[in-house]
Amino acid sequence: MLKIITSPDPLLNQIAEPCEIGDKSLKKLAKQMERVMYDTDGVGIAAPQVGVSKRLIVVDCGPEDVRDPMTLVNPELLETWGEPEIEEEGCLSCPGIRIPIERKPNAKVKYHDLKGDAWVVECDGLLARCLQHEIDHLNGITLFEAASPRERIKALKLYEEARRMGAKPGDTDFEPKVR
Ligand SMILES: [Zn+2]
Repeated sequence: MLKIITSPDPLLNQIAEPCEIGDKSLKKLAKQMERVMYDTDGVGIAAPQVGVSKRLIVVDCGPEDVRDPMTLVNPELLETWGEPEIEEEGCLSCPGIRIPIERKPNAKVKYHDLKGDAWVVECDGLLARCLQHEIDHLNGITLFEAASPRERIKALKLYEEARRMGAKPGDTDFEPKVR
């Protein structure tokens, strides 16, 4: 099982390297990431979160009882649009907390699949939010950097407490007491 890298590991703030299109080893990595994502009840995971600095993400934003993972190689956010919405997001790399993040509700993302074919997906709702979150990871941006300055200060305090209380990747609704 791959190890999940948690904040403040500097690896999470690195810009990930592009994948070689059609690289056969990506399939194995994607499968391992998938397993970590389902084991921790996540809806998305980016390679840097398991210590691999590559532009590869796996998401599954469908119904909870159906496993339908989508692997995106070298995903690129082409466009986001719509009135920005604020929603709480959790992250395997920031266990124990959720942070309100403002994002536009629609996204258009270009990517390759594991076979090397190129695709463009246009989406909204959870998938659009999730893809923006995971692509942020490829650019070295965690929830702390994506949050507004005010939310960041609050979140860092909560996160410190959650870590001290032993929050694990996958915990999102951990509620530490902040004194
Ligand atoms: Zn994340």
